Amino acid sequence: MVIDYMLKTALKMIKTIEDHGFQAYIVGGFVRDYLLGIPSNDVDIATSATPKDLKHLFQDACLSNDDYGSITVIFKNIHFEITTFRKELSYKDNRRPDQIIYIDNLKEDLKRRDFTVNTICMDQKGNIVDLLGGCEDLQKKIIRSVSDPFVLLEEDVLRILRAVRFATTLQFELDDTLKEVIKAKKYLLSRLSLNRKKEELDKIFSSPFAMRGIALLKELGLDKELSLIKIYQVKPCSQVIGIWAMLEVDDIYPFTRNEKTLMEEIRQVLDSPLSFSNLYHYGLYPCVVAAEIKDIDKKKVNEAYLALPIHRRKDLAITTKELLNYLEVKAGPFLKPLYQELEELVLTRQVKNEKELLLEKGKELFGKLERDDNK
Ligand code: ATP
Ligand code: MG
Repeated sequence: MVIDYMLKTALKMIKTIEDHGFQAYIVGGFVRDYLLGIPSNDVDIATSATPKDLKHLFQDACLSNDDYGSITVIFKNIHFEITTFRKELSYKDNRRPDQIIYIDNLKEDLKRRDFTVNTICMDQKGNIVDLLGGCEDLQKKIIRSVSDPFVLLEEDVLRILRAVRFATTLQFELDDTLKEVIKAKKYLLSRLSLNRKKEELDKIFSSPFAMRGIALLKELGLDKELSLIKIYQVKPCSQVIGIWAMLEVDDIYPFTRNEKTLMEEIRQVLDSPLSFSNLYHYGLYPCVVAAEIKDIDKKKVNEAYLALPIHRRKDLAITTKELLNYLEVKAGPFLKPLYQELEELVLTRQVKNEKELLLEKGKELFGKLERDDNK
């Protein structure tokens, strides 16, 4: 979505909240990305209004609210995640706060956040409000923790992967202390659910700078903690599924059945993405992904695919029924291999895909089969 349109809509949104007597600021990813000239998908807002106030304010547009004092509102097709200023008192399972209190102070709210570049705010007039040095780190391209990183990562271990994600997608460096603490605390990752790990890894691997993320995961020694044993064999690939295929963690992380099939196909095709047989049997996509991994020009794969004499079984110029009629025999176990042989002959251009020719060839092969049987 166009950045200016989002900004205008977001400013309108916080004005609406402020007009009802509350404080409200745009915060987090949208402001960070706006300053970097990167489009965002959604907008986070921090406000002194409580979820109850907000539900009252946005009765129709309110989508949901969670137990942590956050509501989602859709306004002009944009997702707004509106969160009440809060202090987090205690955490459970190294993941989420289990006790929060609402407060009336922006700065206090910003202090419970993860990284300084995620604390930059914008007020209803579009002014930048930078209370914790976020702009300086944005300029220096540094991911630095807002508070003591030792405590920050212990409270919520997801922050380790968020740090790697932001360093990857924004092409920033991790602050040295944060880096050291990540190394010291990486064992806590075992407490994080596979779903949450995969969500963050998906964001890292689908970034145009995925290889930077992969290098960082290796440097920080997170590969073992994340069961990414094959990370050293990963080659650049713009398709996230291609990266997962190289990592061979199909049975560790949650994937759909289709994704598992696709990853298996990509691996099967890797030996020879341009072969007739692979292009025909697996289709274009796994071959394109495998070609990219092998650094073969995608255009060549597309051309080879388009040049296939047939693209699917039903493109073959005869049906099994026509073949049986022509041979004047009933179906039997011979039919499938015979038909497949004709398909292979057409695919490899040994026989043209024409009905007469295929029927004749079918007859010849069938005759040979019968002769072999009688021997
Ligand atoms: P993006 O939306 O691009 O993924 P974001 O920084 O906006 O990045 P969100 O998950 O939308 O991330 O969270 C919004 C803001 O809430 C963050 O910018 C950060 O200030 C704060 N935040 C989110 N998750 C955490 C966390 N696990 N610990 C501390 N603060 C967090
Ligand atoms: Mg966000």
